[in-house]
Amino acid sequence: DLQEKPTLPLFGMDIGGTLTKFVYFEPENFDEFDVEERRILQIIHRYLLGDTAYGKTGIRDVHLEMGDQKICGRTGKIHFIRFPTSQMSAFIDLVKTKKFSGLASGICATGGGAYKFAGVFEKEIQLQLHKYDELECLLKGIHYSDRYNHRSECYYFSNPLDSENCEKKPFDFRNPYPYLVVNIGSGVSILSVRSKTDYTRVSGTSLGGGTFLGLCCLLTGCDTFEEAIQLASSGDSKHIDKLVKDIYGGDYSKFGLTGDTVACSFGHMMSKERRELASKEDLARATLVTITNNIGSIARMCAKTEKIEHVVFVGNFLRENQISMKLLAYAMDYWSNGCLKALFLEHEGYFGALGCLLEYLH
Ligand code: ADP
Repeated sequence: DLQEKPTLPLFGMDIGGTLTKFVYFEPENFDEFDVEERRILQIIHRYLLGDTAYGKTGIRDVHLEMGDQKICGRTGKIHFIRFPTSQMSAFIDLVKTKKFSGLASGICATGGGAYKFAGVFEKEIQLQLHKYDELECLLKGIHYSDRYNHRSECYYFSNPLDSENCEKKPFDFRNPYPYLVVNIGSGVSILSVRSKTDYTRVSGTSLGGGTFLGLCCLLTGCDTFEEAIQLASSGDSKHIDKLVKDIYGGDYSKFGLTGDTVACSFGHMMSKERRELASKEDLARATLVTITNNIGSIARMCAKTEKIEHVVFVGNFLRENQISMKLLAYAMDYWSNGCLKALFLEHEGYFGALGCLLEYLH
């Protein structure tokens, strides 16, 4: 790829089907820059770092900041920002009205939107998108943050479904290979990773985070991911799903299925009476559990065919979503008789954007 690399300021952008992720490297020592560079950095910092919310929907995830990072021979802090991709035209308007265009000639970008919006960026704000592959960026980001995040990046849950004894514990990911990455964004991609450079996309499913949110909005009338998760947290999916015991009266012991196993997701909704009793909370919970368990079972099959024990779940579907994380942790362990381990990473949805920023290193 002979495209010319953009220089300072350092941004990485991952324009996804639902969310645009934006990372920014804030260099520490301004004295090393010339007058023009300093002017540009000051404008950017005043806006980006002066606040933690932008417009109606942009948010800086302050808790994810990574300090004391060394990029392009400079020390600084990496910042993590996101906004809905549906707000891209508002973002472009903002760049125009604040006269930000001209501060950078190009930006490293990944995700489908790097292709979809390339023309608009160039025409409207004279910004060239230097495009990189999203899965390559994802892995670069994962490897970087695990190595250079000074706080522990990787963790797992012990006793995931036992509310009293469940614990989040750090996991040593220094020698991770081989491992599976399950990236749960709007849709799902599953990668088998054998070394830094040897990886394949082994599977995927269109039933992902976007499906959860779409169905949940339809079924409950909610409007945001946060609302959907809030509803799900107080719902009971047993009111919606048919369990083995609803069909057998107890366990199906011949094949080791306990009575509490879901036999048919949404199975109770065949009945008019049950439908009338179903609350928004129950419907949201059942949607979350259905989507999560389906992803879990596809991940398990992939791990089996690839003969891999460590499964790393990432993507913004897991943002503020302990229900799904714990369910995945439990399902991996339970259905594999303890052979598989579900792992999670603190910067869950930002690895594509982070990997994109790292393109400056080469
Ligand atoms: P993509 O790159 O496809 O946009 P992400 O990894 O950003 O994928 O994940 C998008 C998913 O994250 C959504 O489908 C939704 O399930 C979940 N999500 C988490 N936070 C939000 C939010 N604030 N707005 C919309 N979706 C969110």
